[in-house]
Amino acid sequence: MAENCIFCKIAAGQIPSLKIYEDKEILAFLDIGPISEGHTLVIPKQHYTKVHECPPQVLASIMSVLPKVAAAVFAASAADGYNILCNNGRAAGQLVEHLHFHIIPRKTGDGVFSRWPASKYPQGKAEEIAEKIRAKL
Ligand code: AMP
Ligand code: ZN
Repeated sequence: MAENCIFCKIAAGQIPSLKIYEDKEILAFLDIGPISEGHTLVIPKQHYTKVHECPPQVLASIMSVLPKVAAAVFAASAADGYNILCNNGRAAGQLVEHLHFHIIPRKTGDGVFSRWPASKYPQGKAEEIAEKIRAKL
């Protein structure tokens, strides 16, 4: 348990949450500041901050629960779609430094995440970055 981690405290039952799903490794609960009704967070009970710091077996457990919880959130919120989002690092919008996956129900035309600043690679840049990434695997 990490010191001063609000999600560790929620996982340990020291801070209340509206639980949706729980097993020995994973907890899902309602986000206290929902982007839309039914916005749910899925966390490992153990403290990890980012995806690449979390053991693959723990990620596998999260991923094996996500479809079940997402299906329930999707059905219960009468949504037209949903986003599964995981912010990694402050620069990416991560405020709570305990790994979590957002399930955010979406309605057609709701305007959430309307900014998607897609760009184009200049000649040769895509190959260069792909090679750089492969070299780090
Ligand atoms: P992120 O920006 O990805 O770190 O998202 C953190 C999320 O945690 C936000 O959507 C908050 O609304 C949510 N959150 C923070 N504290 C609580 C809490 N005590 N119970 C439920 N959700 C929380
Ligand atoms: Zn934690």
